[in-house]
Amino acid sequence: MARRKMVAGNWKMNGARDANASLVRDIVFDVKRFPDIDIVICPPAVYIDPVGQMLSGSSVQLGGQTLCEQEKPGAFTGEIHGGMLKDIGCSYVIVGHSERRALYGETDAVVATKFLTAQACGLQPILCLGETLEEREAGQTEAVLARQLAAVIDAAGVEAFKSAVIAYEPVWAIGTGRTATGEQAQAAHAFIRGQLAQANAKIAGSTRILYGGSVKADNAVALFAEPDVDGGLIGGASLKAAEFLAICAAA
Ligand code: PGA
Repeated sequence: MARRKMVAGNWKMNGARDANASLVRDIVFDVKRFPDIDIVICPPAVYIDPVGQMLSGSSVQLGGQTLCEQEKPGAFTGEIHGGMLKDIGCSYVIVGHSERRALYGETDAVVATKFLTAQACGLQPILCLGETLEEREAGQTEAVLARQLAAVIDAAGVEAFKSAVIAYEPVWAIGTGRTATGEQAQAAHAFIRGQLAQANAKIAGSTRILYGGSVKADNAVALFAEPDVDGGLIGGASLKAAEFLAICAAA
């Protein structure tokens, strides 16, 4: 089954009103060239609403970068409920990004809860999985990916992947300029799809698996040409309109 490609920009903790306006204007201006892919922008929470207003009328969709794991809104100072992301126009939310796992203590169990909460709020999770350099060098890549994915399958069931996206993001490739080769990405993506297939082959065949980690215009073509790579989750390169659009063109 053909999977529709996706390019998602993760702005991380970057942006300012004026810079966002010019970046989004340039993206919206050109985006009609890419009717066959899904394009998503994930700004910092405080900018989601104004960015969403600038995107109105365009095909670009909005996503959050994280959400609170709590099922219901309430007394959780500083947190953002999934229903609020949905309310301001988000369709997607990133969960389990390696920066959240490493810097903010998000365990596999927390990530699984966030995944469930996102779906309960009508958002499609973009579930990030990936091994560190130490884990890769110790030959643990597949074990780590299997463990991270199993935590979510056990909690949500494989059927939940009918409305979720996976992003394989090797930690050693994020923001380092060191990209996985097409071959390395393909091997990891095929492994992840195989894990899903053990539970449900049909869902495995239709689930999109994005690659993330130092994707640039000049390496995107080779990465996206791999059969199990269904697009990209783009960090640094999503902050420059020309670069982001060139990555969209490669998808
Ligand atoms: P990068 O980040 O493209 O800057 O490496 C990717 C990500 O962390 O999603």
